[in-house]
Amino acid sequence: MLPSAPRDDDIIELPPQGSPAPPRTPFRYIAHYLRAGLVVPVVGMALLISISTALETLQPYFLGQLIGTLTNPPTDADPARVVPWFAALCTTWLGGYLFAHLYNSYAHMKLTDLRLRMQDEMFGYLHGHAPRYFMDNASGGLVQKIRQAGNAAHVIIDYLCSNIVRLSVMFAITITMIVNQAPDMLLPFGIFMIVFTAIAAFTAQRFRHAAKDTAKTAADVVARMVDSVTNWDVVRSFARAVYERATMRPLSAAERAAQLKLRFSVSAMRVTLHILSVGFLAWLAWQSLESAVAGTMTVGAFATVMMLSFMVATSIRSLGDNLFVYFEYYGILSETLTTILAGHEIVDAPDAKPLRITGGAVSFEHVSFSYGDGTPVFIDFSLSIQPGERVGLVGPSGAGKSTLIKLLRRQFTFESGRIVIDGQDITHVSWDSLHDCVAEVPQNPSIFHRSVSENIRYSRPDAPESEVIAAAKLAHCHEFIASRPEGYDSIVGEKGMKLSGGERQRVAIARAFLKNAPILILDEATSSLDSEAEHLIQDGLLTLMKGRTVIAIAHRLSTIAHLDRIVVLDRGRIAEQGTHRELLEVGGSYAKLWQRQAGGFM
Ligand code: ADP
Repeated sequence: MLPSAPRDDDIIELPPQGSPAPPRTPFRYIAHYLRAGLVVPVVGMALLISISTALETLQPYFLGQLIGTLTNPPTDADPARVVPWFAALCTTWLGGYLFAHLYNSYAHMKLTDLRLRMQDEMFGYLHGHAPRYFMDNASGGLVQKIRQAGNAAHVIIDYLCSNIVRLSVMFAITITMIVNQAPDMLLPFGIFMIVFTAIAAFTAQRFRHAAKDTAKTAADVVARMVDSVTNWDVVRSFARAVYERATMRPLSAAERAAQLKLRFSVSAMRVTLHILSVGFLAWLAWQSLESAVAGTMTVGAFATVMMLSFMVATSIRSLGDNLFVYFEYYGILSETLTTILAGHEIVDAPDAKPLRITGGAVSFEHVSFSYGDGTPVFIDFSLSIQPGERVGLVGPSGAGKSTLIKLLRRQFTFESGRIVIDGQDITHVSWDSLHDCVAEVPQNPSIFHRSVSENIRYSRPDAPESEVIAAAKLAHCHEFIASRPEGYDSIVGEKGMKLSGGERQRVAIARAFLKNAPILILDEATSSLDSEAEHLIQDGLLTLMKGRTVIAIAHRLSTIAHLDRIVVLDRGRIAEQGTHRELLEVGGSYAKLWQRQAGGFM
């Protein structure tokens, strides 16, 4: 039994291609999730941590009352008078701990959900990018960023709740208690809080760029490392492990410099805030001590103020201790959002409709295109292909054959002209529907590190087993798949490494059979096959071509000589076109090429 691939309807619907990206700054991005249902969990988290902090902050008060009751005469009165304070103290001890624990569990559960939702959304958005984006960004770095971003949001929200909310609640309760116990201290305490908050907010603002730099340098290191590991074979064959390590060093040095810069800045901020808070709290304690000695403050109130001071100092310290982690993750999230959520280059037009194939006519009309480095590949290029016509594209390397195919699949935006399929401009149909109608067997087929059956099924995940096997038989894959102990369940290795080049190409051909698309592109589809394998699947390819519009690129002319028309491209222009026989009669570049290949065979 072949394992079935996930069905489309099991998967959360993605917004249409080119939908506006979510906001690209960390707080606006988190707010986007708050609007999308995260408000209740975050309010719940803030509530739990507030209750826990409130219970904790009440402990000094109850302890103060207990001491006051013990030290105020008459001390020999009914000992039961201390019981309520003692009970309250125990309740707050236990309650504070329990609510902190509840907060941790609830936060973990909800923030894990958030992390996975973010990952899902970013992963979906990433796949909407055009090829140019993937050419400019190393894939290892992208994956690492998506994984880390969810973690970063988790850490940031947790930090805000367990440090900022906690400290705010603590300050609020402390103020209330000071008003109660030592009203003279209220003004200095208020001034301290304003100065403290202003310094913290001002410096935090300034660290954002340093944090983003840190994340970027770290991502560069990962991208380079993944690139190196992906090409392990080349590294080995040129014995370049030492070279690889050496070229990593400048990147690691840049990461180190950025890390240190951030760490030193954060440390300076931490020390400033700590000196400020410890200095103030020591002064507060001294004032209370003087009042207690002078007898204007009870011993109980003194104990309360002292303990509160210690508690606030400890919380401020923990806020500072976690500050570096906070900024590190802030930078990671910020850098990820900028990279992953960059605008999509290819977007569906607002009125985009699914492409409807009636016959499969393809026409390039006055198309001009360059890759952006200024060198034009096509200038005012036109070519019409009739429904069901099979066209061979030949020409020297660099003539623009593959680019033409990429433009047909709308992988790049072209400067002018249009490409029309059955009367519909491809820029006005949805990108997915365009790909649904075009099957391509590329020169170097991409194979997933999954089972061979999942690889074939990729073109139609819900295809029944019988059709997968039928497609494999037509592409002459069945023989080599069946000969493996695991059969269709064999895992083919990264990039199909456990298959030969010819086997990979046959899997790609089987995929195309299964896709059954009306337009077929063969880009050197048989280039990796030995003569025997090629002979085996030529019949299969002929069957595949039946009733479809075909564009086949080939260097080996024998593989396309039988097609309806051959178009010879040279530097982005049509140099010659006609049937094989016509072109031989003309005696132009095609005829010369044919001669050179000694009748089509090298
Ligand atoms: P062919 O398939 O006929 O060998 P291509 O279509 O691959 O030719 O390339 C046409 C021209 O475009 C070449 O000059 C090539 O260097 C250039 N080219 C191809 N891909 C890119 C790219 N991604 N970025 C910049 N230039 C490219």
